[in-house]
Amino acid sequence: MSPFGSKRTLSRRVFGTVFVVAFAAIAVFTVVGSAFLQNNLAQVTRSELHDEAEIVAAALDSTVNDIAVLERVDIDNTRLTLIAEDGTVIYDNQEPASQMENHGQRPEVIAARETGHGSDERDSSTLGEVMLYEAVLLGNGQVVRIAQAQAGVLSILLSFVGPLLIIAAVVIVVSFFAARRESRAIIAPLLDVDLDHPKRNMEAAYAEMVPMLERIESQRQELKQQMRVLADNDRMRREFTANITHELKTPLTTISGYAELISSDMVVDEADIKDFGSRIYREAGRLTSLVNDILTLSNLDEAERSESNDAASVLGSTEPVDLPRMLETVQQRLEHVAHKSDVAVFLDAHPAMVIGVPRLLDELAYNLASNAIRYNRPGGSVVLSCGIDEGRPFIRVEDTGIGIAHDEQAKIFERFYRVDKSRSKARGGTGLGLAIVKHAAAFHGATIDLESEPDCGTRITVTFPVQVLPSVTD
Ligand code: ADP
Repeated sequence: MSPFGSKRTLSRRVFGTVFVVAFAAIAVFTVVGSAFLQNNLAQVTRSELHDEAEIVAAALDSTVNDIAVLERVDIDNTRLTLIAEDGTVIYDNQEPASQMENHGQRPEVIAARETGHGSDERDSSTLGEVMLYEAVLLGNGQVVRIAQAQAGVLSILLSFVGPLLIIAAVVIVVSFFAARRESRAIIAPLLDVDLDHPKRNMEAAYAEMVPMLERIESQRQELKQQMRVLADNDRMRREFTANITHELKTPLTTISGYAELISSDMVVDEADIKDFGSRIYREAGRLTSLVNDILTLSNLDEAERSESNDAASVLGSTEPVDLPRMLETVQQRLEHVAHKSDVAVFLDAHPAMVIGVPRLLDELAYNLASNAIRYNRPGGSVVLSCGIDEGRPFIRVEDTGIGIAHDEQAKIFERFYRVDKSRSKARGGTGLGLAIVKHAAAFHGATIDLESEPDCGTRITVTFPVQVLPSVTD
């Protein structure tokens, strides 16, 4: 049994095509050939009949005893008729003339009377045959006519039926073997294709297969890339989870340690209780910031994966955000921290609007400004600016702080990456601030430009795309 069962096979298809084409070609050739053959035969016969009619007419014109001449004429399969001027049949070599009807209206007789010579072709009483007539006008006004039966197209065709059946049988056998051979030859390069390395097969493959191989190759590359991204994502997710666990554990351990000390009455000094209480409060604050940052990042991750409508439900809907007003609020909220760190914060705000999620844009500006203060030195300064550059709104935060080494600059946007871990923690950092900035900027289609020199300071500019709000063109 065929391994393909009842499924249609290529060899069956090729067989069908070869057989139909070959047989159709033979059949058409037979029909056209028969018509051509019949036409040629008829022409030859007509010309012979014409010559014979002329000869008989010449003989009749030179004699007075027409009937005697006609009876002596012996031409195979030929009917000989002599017709009087009024159409009456005077002589016929196949039927008694007296029983024959008037021939005066026969087309070949009329033509002979008018031009001296007439011919006609009519279906014979025998199926598939035609009668050819040639008539010549005699000197005495009578007409002599010669007729002969000729095979028609149909009878020629019928004569080919036998050979045609034999040819069809031969065509079936030849088509069967040709189809088997052809389909194997067609399939061979397809079976040889190594789908793991389609490029290697391009030279040996049919030209028609090249686009398909190219597609397979590009899909393989895409798949590889997606696998790489998935593996990276998976690695990052695992690292992120490990980091979160670690980051949450540290303040929790501290909190539970101090709480245990207080609850077990081991701390008796009022001042110590107050100190432990404030440490618990500080660690709890860090936990809250950490959980908030984790939530924001996870919302941003979810928004990146979802459609724009779903993103709005995760992050909040977009609306025009006035950048100068936003920076002013950020400055006010950080006033206390800046004062404590002895850092002066200046505002250089020019009108600019961005269509975005207010909470995210606020967090973006707040994180940048907070870093600029926290990684500064006493007596340092921070400038918060915004405006429009070549039609594109921007937010810029510039500080005179500790700066970032060049090889660290790309890494600081990664989750939980800190250049100086103890400094970050001492200043209440979660290690997620710039990761939130990166994703919030990407969500708004903005680019981040970082310029920093260790010991000199840092300048971070977030540039948004041109906004379709007439009022933002300034
Ligand atoms: P953190 O919560 O630790 O501040 P961020 O993601 O905000 O986390 O920043 C990552 C790291 O980048 C920081 O720990 C710090 O080392 C460095 N950094 C960020 N902003 C600045 C800045 N303005 N000046 C110097 N270093 C900075």
